[in-house]
Amino acid sequence: MTNSGSDHFPGQIDVDLAAIRHNLRTLQQRARGSQLMAVVKADAYGHGRGPVALAAYEAGVRWFGVSQVNEALKLVAELTGAGVRDARVFAWLAAPNQDWEAALSAGLHLSASSTFTLESIAAAAQTLALTAPIHLKVDVGMGRGGARGDDFAHLALVAARLEAEGLITVEGIWSHLPEADDITEAGHETMAGQVARFERALAQAREAGLEPELRHLAATSGTLWYPETHYDLVRVGIGMYGLSPNPQVASSADLNLRPALSLGAPVILVKRLPAGAGVSYGATWRAERPHWVGLVPLGYADGIPRHGSNSAPVTVQTVDGPFLSQILGRVCMDQVVISLGEGDEPAARVGDWAVLIGSGPGEPSADEWARACGTINYEIVTRLAPTISRHYHQEDQP
Ligand SMILES: *Cc1c(COP(=O)(O)O)cnc(C)c1O
Repeated sequence: MTNSGSDHFPGQIDVDLAAIRHNLRTLQQRARGSQLMAVVKADAYGHGRGPVALAAYEAGVRWFGVSQVNEALKLVAELTGAGVRDARVFAWLAAPNQDWEAALSAGLHLSASSTFTLESIAAAAQTLALTAPIHLKVDVGMGRGGARGDDFAHLALVAARLEAEGLITVEGIWSHLPEADDITEAGHETMAGQVARFERALAQAREAGLEPELRHLAATSGTLWYPETHYDLVRVGIGMYGLSPNPQVASSADLNLRPALSLGAPVILVKRLPAGAGVSYGATWRAERPHWVGLVPLGYADGIPRHGSNSAPVTVQTVDGPFLSQILGRVCMDQVVISLGEGDEPAARVGDWAVLIGSGPGEPSADEWARACGTINYEIVTRLAPTISRHYHQEDQP
């Protein structure tokens, strides 16, 4: 099964949907009795939203979360197109002039951090003569979305009035944690303060007369490392894709998570450079001795970070087994040059498969790319461009 990307683009992303289902089972065990929401924003972290959401649905997930209302509308179409009728889709970001009628007509569950958003949604609900399902967002310390302190108490009062008018129903109270991947003593102290703020907001909601069915706070890191943040539902993103929210705390393998994505392209040219020859713009790498190099047709336009220049790992699958290589010189827009050694013969041939991200023996992980590029695994996978075709596999691992 293939979707998106050009038929003739040589690079390819493979997504193992069995790994996604496995990861959700692992996360459900950690979440115990709490429901899972599969976070499929940013095209399912670069893995492809529709196929990933359906795999999660098959694994028993009924809640789906994205940032943008527009992504949520696409997701609803993908799910209903596949015959799914009982999924609930939650979106938490919107433009000031958002078309709330379209959002409500599609059955979306919506977040509100301000009375402005709440009243805009209520107005659309009135026009459509329906009741909008709302999750009120608290700011417990992220300093991003959500209402803080007295602002939240006021938001809850406005929500209670709109609920009494039948325009909205407050289905959830929620927030997002900024430091749940910090498991030091200081991290535990920070968490205690943030959970206390969440509890205060829940009390404010009760005082306003609200009785939300769902309280939710944790993303993957809270799910894994702070059970007191589980409440009724946890929103899992990175862990579902098999990556650790903080590889310094625990690796994918430590967590029983299987990275689901691999990225590769064929070697399309092999040649020997003489001693002294430079590679790529600025000649930031030079051959000290004669050196075999290979050309791989993926570059920064495809989402390969330019920060991987001269550092990021690449493994080539050759007839003699995996050859552990790396990028030489700067990452270009559509191509990179990799080392094929200093032997009499090149370590790989034209047509051999170069794996930039993988999970097989000796293959570089998204975590290694993140380290080489000074970023996080989240950014490595979400940047991968839609120009690269995605291929989906269902096999369970041998
Ligand atoms: C991205 C996101 C998540 C998922 O986070 P992970 O660390 O990938 O599990 C959950 N909730 C919100 C609000 C998010 O923005």
